[in-house]
Amino acid sequence: MLINSSLDEVRKRENSFKVIHSILKKYGRKNFYDLTGLAGGFNLNPEDIDLLETYAGPAIFESQLQRAGKQHLGGEKILAFNRTTAGILATILALVKPGHEVIHYLPRKPSHPSIPRSTQLVGASYREFDDINDFKVQENTSLVIITGSTMDHDIINQDEFSCIITTSKSKNIPVFVDDASGARLRTVIYNQPKAMDMGADIVITSTDKLMDGPRAGLMSGKKEIIDLIKTRANQFGLEAQSSTVVSIIRAIQKFSGERMLEAVNKKHEVYEALKDDIVSVRETPTGIMIYADDLVQELRIKGIDTDFTSADVSCVFAALLLRNHHILTIPAVGMPGASTNLRIDLASHDAERIETDYIIKAIIETFSHLGEIVNYKSACELILYDDDLT
Ligand SMILES: *Cc1c(COP(=O)(O)O)cnc(C)c1O
Repeated sequence: MLINSSLDEVRKRENSFKVIHSILKKYGRKNFYDLTGLAGGFNLNPEDIDLLETYAGPAIFESQLQRAGKQHLGGEKILAFNRTTAGILATILALVKPGHEVIHYLPRKPSHPSIPRSTQLVGASYREFDDINDFKVQENTSLVIITGSTMDHDIINQDEFSCIITTSKSKNIPVFVDDASGARLRTVIYNQPKAMDMGADIVITSTDKLMDGPRAGLMSGKKEIIDLIKTRANQFGLEAQSSTVVSIIRAIQKFSGERMLEAVNKKHEVYEALKDDIVSVRETPTGIMIYADDLVQELRIKGIDTDFTSADVSCVFAALLLRNHHILTIPAVGMPGASTNLRIDLASHDAERIETDYIIKAIIETFSHLGEIVNYKSACELILYDDDLT
């Protein structure tokens, strides 16, 4: 194995940052393409800068946050977090007791790691399922979580969404929607309603996913529940600070779904061009992806067997794509536990200045390069962990 622990994941991530540093220094920002769909940003107005203080900022920004947040998510009261992960933790801390149960429905496993980890932290039991027939609430179920769109952009079916909400409500169990990317993917591409309008009690979204905001969590919900969560968030220092709050507001004000809708055509073009060479390439709502497991299968089709895990192989692919073609995907920089599937998001900000032909050629070349080095452990380790190559 190439990547054996969370520590290795951190080393790999640090190495990618060094590679990005060297690309930016040598070639400039214009020749670096972040296609993760997570670019984020702090698009402040000049007059915002003077208010980035501990108390003056929130006094001014709070009412704007309430307005912008409700426009984006619906609901009664808004709360901003340092990250979506922080919002998930605060919610579970506030609503779930030791010995109780959290159940989680998602269109396709696995869950974002923050949900099982937070549940474990409070000493509750956890069940996740991606088949609606496995949905059963129990006596001790104190929170139902629904993921609207997974890390890999699998989208929930609207009827299943409604069904879970109706059942949970009939048992008076609060429903929390993890709509990290779903708040935009579901609504803009699939015309589904906002989670709050579907009847959810709480929803959270990541303001850097398919939106040019900071990496932060924006939550909306019923007022009394939000107040409970807010108390917990403040106790543990999970809430967003002024600079993040104002950037969230500006990102919502500037958001339009147009780039996402344009991506639908572009990704189709990329998919069509790749599908003969890489048969398992798939379309996502705004991009293309290759599952890590499929990548190993693809190598096998070409007569190349490997003893490395699919996660290893996918991370080597991502590292090669970054070094040689300056294209960034999540496996190169993901936090420990993040998805290792390769996803190119054509709704990314940087996708606007890169030709689809460049992306197609980069993927095909990287795939053949991967085949050449995948059986040489030291070469793969150099690519993953050693920045001296660039
Ligand atoms: C991205 C994501 C999160 C967490 O967002 P962070 O910014 O990493 O905290 C949670 N759930 C889902 C479904 C996600 O896609």
